[in-house]
Amino acid sequence: MKILVLNCGSSSVKYQLFDMAGETVLARGLVERIGISGSVLTHRPAGKDKLVREAEIPDHKVAIRLCLEALTDSHYGVIKDYNELGAVGHRIVHGGTFPHSVLVDASTKKAIGELEALAPLHNGPALRGIEACEAILPHTPQVTVFDTAFHQGMPDYAYTYSLPYELCQKYLIRRYGAHGTSHQYVALRAAALVGRPLAELKMITCHLGNGSSITAIKNAKSYDTSMGFTPLAGLTMGTRCGDIDPAIVTFLMEKEGYTPADMDRLMNRQSGVLGVSGVSSDFRDIEAAMAAGNERARLAWDIFVHTAKKYIGAYVAVLNGLDVLVFTAGLGENSPEAREAICRDMDYLGIKIDPEENRVRGQEKEITAPGARVRTFVIPTNEELMIARETMALVQAG
Ligand code: AMP
Repeated sequence: MKILVLNCGSSSVKYQLFDMAGETVLARGLVERIGISGSVLTHRPAGKDKLVREAEIPDHKVAIRLCLEALTDSHYGVIKDYNELGAVGHRIVHGGTFPHSVLVDASTKKAIGELEALAPLHNGPALRGIEACEAILPHTPQVTVFDTAFHQGMPDYAYTYSLPYELCQKYLIRRYGAHGTSHQYVALRAAALVGRPLAELKMITCHLGNGSSITAIKNAKSYDTSMGFTPLAGLTMGTRCGDIDPAIVTFLMEKEGYTPADMDRLMNRQSGVLGVSGVSSDFRDIEAAMAAGNERARLAWDIFVHTAKKYIGAYVAVLNGLDVLVFTAGLGENSPEAREAICRDMDYLGIKIDPEENRVRGQEKEITAPGARVRTFVIPTNEELMIARETMALVQAG
């Protein structure tokens, strides 16, 4: 079965076409600047030259039509016609309380629309992507795979905030978490590498990128995760502040006359390692500035490492032990320095990594030091493949 995976953002559509027989990628591509000048499609078919097509792309429907034209193009295409598509899988950032992926029907679309208030930049475009596919591919099943679904396994005491209960009910305020598809993918992969069912393993997965989250996994379910009601919570990130004392918000609003929108911008775009260092939101720049002796870059790095260590320690406590630790995403996969710093002096918890094995960048590898109790892995994430697998499973189940 051939499955098209779509990830619709506010002004972009990313796509990958999988042949599920060998889980191979037949083509991948990106439409950028939807609805603004300079729209462009970049299509990369496996084993062929890439196609770059500039066109006026006013909305997601035109964008998806262009993706499909590229996929069926006589030269750059990889399928003959749309009938070869077995299904379309859509990445949905906010799935509210959906506990698993679902086949798209009217009620799914209604629910995704209602959740737009919680993820305004993502759920609206995803819904437009679904509607575009319904119009262009009326006979192809569609599946929604939610970034939040894996975290629906959390117990109530992990997802409930200690605010007035009625207010939380009224506004659907609770911990939802994020990166769930990534955490689940690397967890399943780590379990396969260890050769034991995920349900038997106590695991911590560290998705460390521009946005970062850490998840505790027990009984094959997310038991707790560092992101919360929104992806602002948890670790210090590229530009997001992560956990701060909530009183700072009202304090700054009073002192500086900030509006809610100002605070939102400050905490989401001007904080994190960028805000502390004044250098960059990119950890490569932070590492370079630190090596050049920049003290604020060092401080930003140390804060990041310290918060990551605290989450791991806390999660070992609530899991009552740890079998497997996984690093993934841009920084987790590519920065031996970040992994080394986070795992340093964690031998009390059974975590110790081998400096030689840890030199790896962007490849799957076990990096456990000889004799360490916890097995530590670097596993490149693959959210698109996870979405394709979920999509195929639902379509085959009817
Ligand atoms: P992501 O959000 O998963 O795409 O990850 C982006 C983050 O990964 C950026 O902050 C990058 O600095 C970081 N990153 C990517 N490659 C490297 C690398 N080779 N060394 C250090 N950090 C990296």
